Amino acid sequence: MARSGLLDFIAIRDDTDFQTVLDYYQLKPERPGDKQVKIHCPFHDDASPSCSINLEKGIFNCFGCSAEGNVLDFIRLKDGLGNKETFKAAQKALKIIGASAEEYRKGDDRDKKPKNASKSTKKAQPARNSSKPVKSPDDDATDTQDDAKTSTANPVIDISLTLDHDHEFLASRNVSPDLAAEFGIGYCRTGIMKNRIAIPIHNPSGQLVAYAGRYANDDMPSDQIKYKLPKGFEKSLELFNLHRAAAMGKSYVVVVEGYWSVFRLHAAGVPTVSLMGTSISDHQAALLAAAGFRHAILILDGDDAGREATPAALSVLVQAVYVKTVILPEGVKPDTMSDDIVHRFQR
Ligand SMILES: [Zn+2]
Repeated sequence: MARSGLLDFIAIRDDTDFQTVLDYYQLKPERPGDKQVKIHCPFHDDASPSCSINLEKGIFNCFGCSAEGNVLDFIRLKDGLGNKETFKAAQKALKIIGASAEEYRKGDDRDKKPKNASKSTKKAQPARNSSKPVKSPDDDATDTQDDAKTSTANPVIDISLTLDHDHEFLASRNVSPDLAAEFGIGYCRTGIMKNRIAIPIHNPSGQLVAYAGRYANDDMPSDQIKYKLPKGFEKSLELFNLHRAAAMGKSYVVVVEGYWSVFRLHAAGVPTVSLMGTSISDHQAALLAAAGFRHAILILDGDDAGREATPAALSVLVQAVYVKTVILPEGVKPDTMSDDIVHRFQR
């Protein structure tokens, strides 16, 4: 007897084992057995494996063509379906894992949802949360039936500010005009970022999602805030500089609090991302793994906030990567720490 309920895409996504999908498409990981594997990307002409898949979290990310998303996105792209065709991708997923659509109708028997046999590598709860916001690069349309749709990603913006890469505040923070140009940061004379250093923030695919605005003077009027971020911007969904750090192709990454620490370490050739604060979300940790990093070195600022936040940040990071930490002396930040420490990460 056919039921009329809609398909529960989230349940299908969570029950679709990525390894089973890879087997189905006869895609062989470079080193089978790991929970983080790499394959020759099926979505572009890929000479060396550049598509990274976290089998446990059920997410993938290609550094060659920027394809990314969850296991349903993978199926959707593999079958050449459009970004509104999650329904077809979900149906295909059911076929691959050998489940029937009737088991995944919404609206009744929710607590009796059958467990699928192929689900032995069931994802842990935090991983499920963190895989949610990942979306494929072209996924800007609304699927009318798509609960698995990843509505919690920051929208891509199309704004180009006129910025001065050569400004005294940048010089005072040891950011050369060349480095400022590389990051696209600079002093803004007009608009909502007036009198601020505008810092573009990108998603893991390198698409612009926000500008942070640092007041361009440490002597700041009391009615100003030090950093301005757009309303609604979710910084827990992004890691500042992730796309550049990932492109360096290293297996390790340094994780810091602030933008200026990133500028300094990046200029020294060290892959570095910023939390834009002291806390790290499950999603941010998952982004590191999805970007191909296996090791993280956490260096929060040498102040009370940094020291207090370190244990919690470590406990989130260890779920995704091997992690070490460096405790800085009081008053020292990664942008002011000694060159000796920086040299340790230049490998
Ligand atoms: Zn690719």
